[in-house]
Parts: sequence; C-alpha cells; structure tokens
Amino acid sequence: MPEGDTVWRAARDLQAALAGAELTRTDFRVPRFATTDLSGRVVEGVASRGKHLLIRIAPGPGDDEGWTVHSHLKMEGLWHIYNRGERWRRPAFKARAVLETVSRQAVGFELGILRVLPRSGEDEAVGYLGPDLLGPDWDPAEALRRLEAVPERPVGLALLDQRNLAGIGNVYRCELCFLVGVHPLTPVRDVPDLPRLVDLSKRLLEANKSRSRRITTGLAGRDPLWVYNREKRGCLRCGTRVVHELVGDNELELRDLYYCPRCQPPPDLGEAASGAGTLEG
Ligand SMILES: [Zn+2]
Repeated sequence: MPEGDTVWRAARDLQAALAGAELTRTDFRVPRFATTDLSGRVVEGVASRGKHLLIRIAPGPGDDEGWTVHSHLKMEGLWHIYNRGERWRRPAFKARAVLETVSRQAVGFELGILRVLPRSGEDEAVGYLGPDLLGPDWDPAEALRRLEAVPERPVGLALLDQRNLAGIGNVYRCELCFLVGVHPLTPVRDVPDLPRLVDLSKRLLEANKSRSRRITTGLAGRDPLWVYNREKRGCLRCGTRVVHELVGDNELELRDLYYCPRCQPPPDLGEAASGAGTLEG
C-alpha cells in the first residue's frame, strides 16, 4: 500500500527519468484532461509532498505559467518507467497518464487522483498538508502543534490525517502505535510521549524510503512488521492474537487497524473523559 516512502521513491525515479527532458507526447486518460496536451514542454522536476506526487513542467510558448501533473496513488496506484518501445507490465486499460520523452515513457496506473494544474494551483491542491515527513521542510514542532490541537482525537486516526503530518499511511500508523505501546484509540492527550512518537515517525519513514520492502522490526525476513496484517500469526513481540478492526471517523474513511491487545492495552475512555482534567491539572 503506497505511503510516504513509496511516493518519495516514485518521485526520485521519475525525476531521474524525466527531469530536463522535453515531453514528446502526453496522454491523460481521465475525461477532464483527455484533451490536455503538454507535449513540447520540458519537465522541470518531480517532487513528493506526503503521499502526493507533483511532476512540474515548464511553460511552453503561449503559456502564462508552468504546469503541475498532480497525482495520488491511493490504494492501488503506481508509476512505471519504461524505455521507449518496452512492453508495459500492467494492462493498458489501467493506465491513467502517459508522459513520453525521446527515450523514456512514464506511465501512471490506477491513480487515485490525476489532475493537470497550472503551477499556481499547486497550493490549493496540497497546501493543506501538514509538515512532510520526507520533505525538505519537515518541521516536527509544527507537526506536534497540529496533533495537539485536537487532544481528544484517537492517535491512530490523528496520525493518518495528512493535515497533521504528511506521509503516514495505514501500515505506519499501526506500527507506530505499537512501537510506543499505545492502543490506536488512545486520545492524543493521553499518549505518554508525543514528541517521541513524532520523532519515531520521521525515523521510520527515513529508514524505509530507499527500501522496496517496508521494515519496522529490523528483521528483513518473514517478520518485517510487528502487528500490521499479522492477525493470523500474532504479535511479533508477545505472540498474542492481533486484533483486526475497521476504524475511521468523520474525517477519514474506514481503514484496517491492527494492534496487540496485550502490548497496547485499550484506553480507559470513561475515566479519561471524567478524570483526565483533574489528573493533568
Ligand atoms: Zn504483543
């Protein structure tokens, strides 16, 4: 499942394949941009912003400004890079965007979002995102401030909300909650060391950004993760049956949640609601 690390790698690879080259053909296979043609323009560079990918294209003759091809991989999306004439490794009907240069072809398959924006539209598309865990402007204090702004929100949902910090997807939010020993439904205010959690998020994504396989346990073999997708095998630390639930809230769609009920005991929400104020006061 694409998370910030996957998108960072896609940006790196697209940058290597396309940056500085002129587009000889573009094909956007979504109704809204079906007639958009950016051929003849030069690719300036490719950047990731959380889980969003921005392919920036220089203005051509007659353009007032440059362009941005904005994509989001969502659940199944991916970008492939081919040499010209090479056979695609996915069916053509799943392709949503094709960007060609003299020597290379970048194809975006099953993209969850695909938009072609004037450059000035970028901010509207991704400006709401919180600090980008893998971005040059990563700001842990700002991420912490945004998380703490809604203290009653379950931490497992707050981590997934890209307005707080950008780049964490479903696998990392489960693994992060495990690593700090909190149940994902623990309110943000009751997480013992929130700065450590933010710091750990950064370190985990950094450690994984250049790997094709996500590892949070330090074990590269058959147990790369502590709890995610382990409902059949149990918690890697204590062997307890991992709980698998679908959880979301008004802001976020239902997503698979995994946790170990022993290593991550459920919060006592009744007590927290009535007693937290006096305890903290
Ligand atoms: Zn456990």
